Amino acid sequence: KLYNMVQDLKGNIRVYCRIRPSFSCESKNVIDFIGEDGSLVILDPLKPQKDGRKVFHFNQVFGSTATQVEVFKGTQPLIRSVMDGYNVCIFAYGQTGSGKTHTMSGPSGGSTGDMGINYLALNDLFQISKRRKDIIDYDIHVQMVEIYNEQVRDLLVQDSSTTKYPFILVILSHLNFISLERKTGPQSFCVSLTIYKLEIRSCTGDNGLSIPDATMHSVNSTADVLNLMKYGEVNRVVSSTAINNRSSRSHRSCLTVHVHGKDTSGGTFRSCLHLVDLAGSERVDKSEVTGDRLKEAQYINKSLSCLGDVITALAQKNSHIPYRNSKLTLLLQGSLGGQAKTLMLAHVSPEDDSFSETVSTLKFAQRVS
Ligand code: ADP
Ligand code: MG
Repeated sequence: KLYNMVQDLKGNIRVYCRIRPSFSCESKNVIDFIGEDGSLVILDPLKPQKDGRKVFHFNQVFGSTATQVEVFKGTQPLIRSVMDGYNVCIFAYGQTGSGKTHTMSGPSGGSTGDMGINYLALNDLFQISKRRKDIIDYDIHVQMVEIYNEQVRDLLVQDSSTTKYPFILVILSHLNFISLERKTGPQSFCVSLTIYKLEIRSCTGDNGLSIPDATMHSVNSTADVLNLMKYGEVNRVVSSTAINNRSSRSHRSCLTVHVHGKDTSGGTFRSCLHLVDLAGSERVDKSEVTGDRLKEAQYINKSLSCLGDVITALAQKNSHIPYRNSKLTLLLQGSLGGQAKTLMLAHVSPEDDSFSETVSTLKFAQRVS
């Protein structure tokens, strides 16, 4: 039974759903039922009981009371398999505000009390590495990039401008927060920092890297990871300051963990774990947005639909998988399909005014499960 369970958890494409707690006491909650078998029933707020019921099925559903650690435990077998040489990709999907960043990074504001999957995963990998140190010598490195309007940026870059002026970066990010808070334009702080535009290689070379030019950091402890995550966040804020009119929806980052293992007989292997926080999946009304915002929306829609197409093609075992249609799928190519293991974490908000977005997220997620 245990074997079956492990096999089951190690299947190629899994889909989990997480429902965040409701923040509004006025709105009705659309979640009707969560089954232990992965079923989820939601109620259309505008239709009477029976007609308004919609039933979905996933591998697992986490209700609004699920803790960070519980969600992490659900992903742990998958994450651990990266230490056995499997490529793994976990991505958070859902509309803006549904809890993607909370699941992957932790609560907003960067408090360290309730860390997300990124941190818990690395912590777990370090422990495995320690436990196995007599049989396998592991090297763990991370890269962190973001994709905005189909351009890839290094979030851990430490070139001359950033290593010389880390303090300036911090100040700029504070100015950015203040200007966002006061709703004044951040444009006045528009700085042209070195924002690297990186190339992705579809066919990974000897070193197995799909973005060979993004900075690689060796990590040995959770303290290293915390520092890098903070650093990446500052870089992200600074780079978004430099891009006028960028929306919070567009936040999209990918933390890649590279594992290199060497056993006592001299055999080696490489594998990687991609942890992706996607851009908000909500549809935008073309009549309401123009200019930069429309362009951004179009890029986001295109890249999310490309991801959907790739996963659907994999689930249907098609012979052609359209990886090349977006930067994101190109980046994840080695971790989607083949022997790789993929987990989609679909996020939904429980409030009734999010109902139509919730339905569309759940449909997208069910399409691939
Ligand atoms: P997204 O990244 O999908 O736009 P966030 O992760 O930023 O959404 O979540 C929106 C807000 O809801 C944040 O303030 C976040 O801390 C909070 N939040 C999300 N999920 C949870 C949860 N499971 N428990 C408590 N607060 C949550
Ligand atoms: Mg977010």
